[in-house]
Amino acid sequence: MIKLEHVNKTFGDHQALIDINTEFKEQQTTVIVGPSGSGKSTLLRSLNLLERPESGRYTFNDQLIDFTKPLSSKDILTLRRKTGMVFQGYNLFPHLTVVKNVMEGPVQVLKQTPAVAKKTALELLTKVGLADKAEAYPSQLSGGQQQRVAIARSLAMNPEYILLDEPTSALDPELEAGVLRVLLELAQEKDSMIIVTHNLEFARSVADKILFVEAGKILFDGTPAEFFKQPTQRIADFLAAMT
Ligand code: ATP
Ligand code: MG
Repeated sequence: MIKLEHVNKTFGDHQALIDINTEFKEQQTTVIVGPSGSGKSTLLRSLNLLERPESGRYTFNDQLIDFTKPLSSKDILTLRRKTGMVFQGYNLFPHLTVVKNVMEGPVQVLKQTPAVAKKTALELLTKVGLADKAEAYPSQLSGGQQQRVAIARSLAMNPEYILLDEPTSALDPELEAGVLRVLLELAQEKDSMIIVTHNLEFARSVADKILFVEAGKILFDGTPAEFFKQPTQRIADFLAAMT
């Protein structure tokens, strides 16, 4: 389980996260929604320590991080291992085939043998519907296919949580559907995921929990059923503006 307590993050004179308190349970999918500039990416990136909040506590199972204290590189490494970030823009290695892209981390970082890593990589590519593209190069794939490779690559590292920041925002609707289907399957298999998205229909179908963030604060933390009942005027306005 991940727990954030009283987390604050400031950029210059702008406070991007204000007293964030929440929990992300294992085997659940949390969807973070909110207006542009509200702090969604900053929140997600803080979980991966790509951003360093200046105060608050971050608990990951039995690992406790106090953001007021300097972070050790060991803390950073172990937390990065446990949280697999799927980056937008995919960051695939252009000179490696799809299967080699998925094998790279397990071989280089986890020290798996190439044979073991390849077997897992092919299973994961099958899972994301790309078994037939294993020997292709990233440039030969559509954006949606590249995003699915990026998801397989993240899964290959066997993280405890998968973090996705607007995984389909760069994609046409028909390519988006393939990626969302994969994420829905992962959610049904009870992978632990935290997803930032503007796609409310997807949020409703995939989320166990919704966080609504505005101006750096969590304004709602609860189930999709409660959220879509529009418990506050602000949420009603947000939902109306998004549809
Ligand atoms: P979007 O939906 O547009 O992606 P967001 O909710 O992800 O928005 P963030 O990227 O978390 O928003 O940004 C929150 C606030 O912090 C914004 O006002 C943004 O301008 C500011 N911010 C984010 N990163 C930085 C940075 N590296 N330096 C300065 N300000 C930043
Ligand atoms: Mg963002």
